[in-house]
Amino acid sequence: MAEDPNSWETATRLIRGGLARSPHGETSEPIYLTQSFVYDTAESADARFAGTEPGYVYARYGNPTVKMFEDRLALLEGAQACRATASGMAAVHMAISGLVRAGDHIVSSKALFGSCRWILNTWAPRFGVETTLVDGPDLAAWRGAVRPNTKLFFMETPANPLLEISDIAGVCAIAREIGASVVVDNVFATPIFQSPLKLGADIVVYSATKHIDGQGRVLGGAILGDSVLMEEAYKDLARHTGPALSPFNAWVLLKGLETLDLRVRRQTETAAVLADLIADHAKVVSCRYPGRPDHPQFEVAARQMNGGGNEMGGSSLIAFDLGSREAAFRFLNHLQLVDISNNLGDAKSMATHPPTTTHRSMTEEQRLEIGLTSGWVRLSVGLEGARDLARDLERALDAA
Ligand SMILES: *Cc1c(COP(=O)(O)O)cnc(C)c1O
Repeated sequence: MAEDPNSWETATRLIRGGLARSPHGETSEPIYLTQSFVYDTAESADARFAGTEPGYVYARYGNPTVKMFEDRLALLEGAQACRATASGMAAVHMAISGLVRAGDHIVSSKALFGSCRWILNTWAPRFGVETTLVDGPDLAAWRGAVRPNTKLFFMETPANPLLEISDIAGVCAIAREIGASVVVDNVFATPIFQSPLKLGADIVVYSATKHIDGQGRVLGGAILGDSVLMEEAYKDLARHTGPALSPFNAWVLLKGLETLDLRVRRQTETAAVLADLIADHAKVVSCRYPGRPDHPQFEVAARQMNGGGNEMGGSSLIAFDLGSREAAFRFLNHLQLVDISNNLGDAKSMATHPPTTTHRSMTEEQRLEIGLTSGWVRLSVGLEGARDLARDLERALDAA
């Protein structure tokens, strides 16, 4: 009898999950670079469109390479269903818009990726959906923001860029009481270190562009959850609005998944060492790392980001305050190994100044609301040698 993939360890899921070999028996997953599909008979086309015969009809609806990526990620996440999208933002947009309609209300943590904030603050109101932004770690604030028409809770945890942590199980308990759904953007934690569905979330979204690719190549995204909810909320929406992932990009992401566990664990191991070095440096006003006891939500991080027994509150990202924009720029400009880049989760270590890059579309006032003053730097730790990275960071910190 065939093995049950649900009995596999994470590492096995990442290599074997979703694998659907063609009759050629290729080793590596095939790339089905095709838009459409052909049918033996008119009756067969009729049956495929009716959904009474299994099989593909059009790549906007589904594609075998994309399906392998979806199945592998679903197996990793422990989700019944997965829908891949062309980017992380396509996933966030679809995840939200499939769950609300005009007159509904959303509560969201206010520390968010800039584009997520734009969807909630600027785009959704055009369709009659209002959002109240709350301080993510403050459970009383979530409860206090609830209105009779609240249908959705949205959060990013750890949040970009200051790695603030919301209590997923706590927020989900409030949502259950009022019958709202919970969507968690799990990009920073990765599926290796945090499983929001197991903590009570209804939907998890990813930008696969980040750690899942992890090698700077393609954009991608995914929405995961229970199959009934996924079908109701997203099946028609995805078919008719077309955020489909390209089969080629799906293949790149499948290959990314094979090494995800290895990469993210190594990156996090190095990050834990570097976070201590950064925190102890005289030029650093404040350092935020979920694995350090001085992180304001360390206890929550330790509880919900345990990554299968990993004690580090796993994160490959570190944020630190150098006191001023000038000091942050001096630091960035003195890096020799670490790249200045707004991407994250990559094999190459990257640092950015969020106030002038990823979070520049926010007003100064909005930035201050989330504690993002002008001296903060976000570091995404890659796969280079820890000693080389430490030397580079020390030199640049000295110069800051
Ligand atoms: C990058 C990112 C996104 C958007 O993903 P893209 O693939 O760039 O569209 C959404 N949420 C978070 C937390 C991100 O870091």
